[in-house]
Amino acid sequence: MNAFVRLTQRSLTVRIVALFLGLLLLVQVIGFSAIRVSLSSHAHNELPGRLELGDRVLQSLLAQRAQKLTDGARLLAADYGFREAVHSNDTETIVSVLENHGRRIGATQVALYGADLTLKATTGDQLDALGPLAARLAGLAGEQRPGAPVPSGEIALLSDTPYQFVMVPIKAPVIVGWVLIGFSIDERLVADMQALAALQVTLLTRISAAEPWQVKLSSMAGALATGLALHPWSGAVAEVGTMTSVDVQGEEFGVHSRWLTTPSVAGVGNRGGGVMALTSLSVDEATRIPQDLQVALLAVTLLSCALFGIGSAFTAHRVITPLHRLAAAADRLGAGDYTTPIGGEQSQDEIGHLSHAFERMRISVAAQKEEILKLAYWDTLTGLPNRAQFRDAVREAIAVAQKNEGAPGMPSVAVLMLDLDRFKHVNDVLGYRFGDLLLVRVAERLAQHAVRVGDLVARLGGDKFAILLRSGDGELAQAVAQRIADAFDAPLTLEEHTVDMGAGIGIACWPQHASDADALLGRAEIAMYAAKKRRAGALMYEPTIDASSAQTLSLLTEMRQAVGENQLRLYLQPKLSLGTGAVVGAEALVRWQHPSRGLVPPMQFIPFAEQTGFIRVLTMWIFEEAARHWRMLHAEGMLITLSVNLSTRDLLDQELPQKFDALLVKHQVPAEAFCLEITESAIMDDPQRALATLDRLSALGFKLSIDDFGTGYSSLAYLKRLPVDELKIDQSFVRSMESDPDDAKIVRSTIDLAHNMGLSVVAEGVENAHVWDMLRDLNCDQAQGYHMGRPMPADTFANWSVGWRAKHRPVDLPAAASMLH
Ligand code: C2E
Ligand code: CA
Ligand code: CA
Repeated sequence: MNAFVRLTQRSLTVRIVALFLGLLLLVQVIGFSAIRVSLSSHAHNELPGRLELGDRVLQSLLAQRAQKLTDGARLLAADYGFREAVHSNDTETIVSVLENHGRRIGATQVALYGADLTLKATTGDQLDALGPLAARLAGLAGEQRPGAPVPSGEIALLSDTPYQFVMVPIKAPVIVGWVLIGFSIDERLVADMQALAALQVTLLTRISAAEPWQVKLSSMAGALATGLALHPWSGAVAEVGTMTSVDVQGEEFGVHSRWLTTPSVAGVGNRGGGVMALTSLSVDEATRIPQDLQVALLAVTLLSCALFGIGSAFTAHRVITPLHRLAAAADRLGAGDYTTPIGGEQSQDEIGHLSHAFERMRISVAAQKEEILKLAYWDTLTGLPNRAQFRDAVREAIAVAQKNEGAPGMPSVAVLMLDLDRFKHVNDVLGYRFGDLLLVRVAERLAQHAVRVGDLVARLGGDKFAILLRSGDGELAQAVAQRIADAFDAPLTLEEHTVDMGAGIGIACWPQHASDADALLGRAEIAMYAAKKRRAGALMYEPTIDASSAQTLSLLTEMRQAVGENQLRLYLQPKLSLGTGAVVGAEALVRWQHPSRGLVPPMQFIPFAEQTGFIRVLTMWIFEEAARHWRMLHAEGMLITLSVNLSTRDLLDQELPQKFDALLVKHQVPAEAFCLEITESAIMDDPQRALATLDRLSALGFKLSIDDFGTGYSSLAYLKRLPVDELKIDQSFVRSMESDPDDAKIVRSTIDLAHNMGLSVVAEGVENAHVWDMLRDLNCDQAQGYHMGRPMPADTFANWSVGWRAKHRPVDLPAAASMLH
């Protein structure tokens, strides 16, 4: 039962089928009851009529018997021999004839009465008791007209047995006697009644009203008949159309009762005794639904149950199958599968509509999801994957490589990170729309040159791009980086502007440089910034460029030794007046004479020194060394300005001006002999503190210069607020101004603006005479570059200057002369 309940709760089909079948059964039961009720009322209406009919049948049966008896009696009365015997009053013969004749017609009582109704002879022994009967019958016969139907005779009870009697006269031609014939009523009457009227007949007898009724004959089962007899039938007088209801052993019977005996001739003293005939019918039986109807009803019920069952199951199936499909589809949607169509044939009904609605919802959600994914994972400007997608892809690539770790050939993943040079500047000068276009073109270039199938180019944001080389090692990454650098060498032409794009590229590989995706990206970024700083193009990550790595500690120790053990060298690179060609200054640049690595260029340790803060020690060393040399050069008659580079950390050092001042005093050098070079980014790290330091330095008399101008993000308007004397145009513009008209434009406008603001302009990176001439024509003040002189050991500078002067014979040296005071 519980299992069924659970099944119905879970299955709609079972519920629908159960409901339909339940309704059907209810209808069947109602129909069945209606049939019963109507049958019952019909039977109750019919019953009295049927019982009355039965009663008439009984009477006519009795009349038939009476006719037969009468015929037999007439035959006897007409018999010649019998008449002779009656005439001669030969009693012996009479008795024997009566016996013979009675036997022949089946009568049990035969008697002869005289004309005066005295008994003459009889075959039975109790006929003396029948005097009144004979008198009545004779009277009846006398009243009867010849040819009229024979009366049914008379029924009387003789020693507890009912008899039917008839009497005919013996005429010669006057009545000379009477023949009485009696016939015991037996089972044949009951059998005939049943055959003719399909009713039960019961004959009851009693001697007097004081006695109970006795069942004499009955077509009913003995017990039922006895039960019927218990009813007080004495008062019951047969009346047309009446019916008595009697309950016997729980069964209802409709009964019609009739006295068969005439009270006056009952034969046994008329004390309420006599014979009672009951015609009866079982009401229950009459109202019972006939067997064949029952079978038919059952068959109809079963058939309709089967049809309903199949029909409702089919309907439920038709409804529920699409529901199941929709439920499965909803599950799929819930699990995030928006690609599989809802499916199934689409009907035009409500479920079809629902299905359509579902399908529309799926398509719409799928589209929205795609849109969201696009926003979340794609860069809208370039159409490249964005940082989030790139990070996922790197993670995935590492996971795949990790799985293959046992396989032959070292599995490896390489990431290249790339940041455009001077993009901010291009954006500022040529506009954001142009900047956007430029980024799109750069993206196209990267996609063209960089990538094998399966590799991924992404825009991480701003002017930063990244490339993932799945199963790529350092060597491959270097090759790709080189290809990209080569591709960037060709200037980009966009809307009649030609832009020379450079980029710093950082490379990091898994598992050599990092153990997970985020670390790998971080390392590639560190390498990229280092590459930009060193103008190295592409740079593979190594722990020395990363202040957070373990190797830096040993490098730090090495650098301390470098200062202590005098491994650092001061190099000087000349700065020349474009107007006169005279040597007007030099930039102090550091070199490291490493005991095992040889001469190490600054880009391999300056960034590290900046990160670790060791740069302050370095700066002090260079400044003092520069002061020493200035003193020496001064002694040789050379009056030049020495440029010294300052880093962010230096600017944040509040003591720096005092320290410098102390060294100036120590070496007896005027502050005006120095120009301090600061990059825009160094100032922008903490503008307020930087500005405070710069103000104090300026107040001490130091000249200040903005180094690498054009690569940072500061505007000239902002620089105007700084106590600056000089701008150094970044060498990337200068080196390409020959080939790139836009760069030439930038150089020109920078020079003009600087002059308008009262600043002098230095161009660095002059590599040939053509650029020199161009710069001179643009009224640039000074030039620095390989074309004139590379950085050289400081103690060779004086000689070099002599050689230069000999070659170029300066017109005059007013600036140098003025500085001597
Ligand atoms: P920087 O301050 O921009 O120095 C100029 C760099 O450009 C020098 O490289 C110089 O050798 C190079 N250079 C000069 N003319 C040309 C040319 O015509 N063509 C080319 N291709 N390059 C030219 P260097 O000496 O390797 O120094 C690189 C950077 O290292 C410097 O860039 C500076 O930022 C940093 N640096 C060097 N020495 C020091 C130092 O003593 N202190 C600090 N804080 N930084 C230093
Ligand atoms: Ca510099
Ligand atoms: Ca520079």
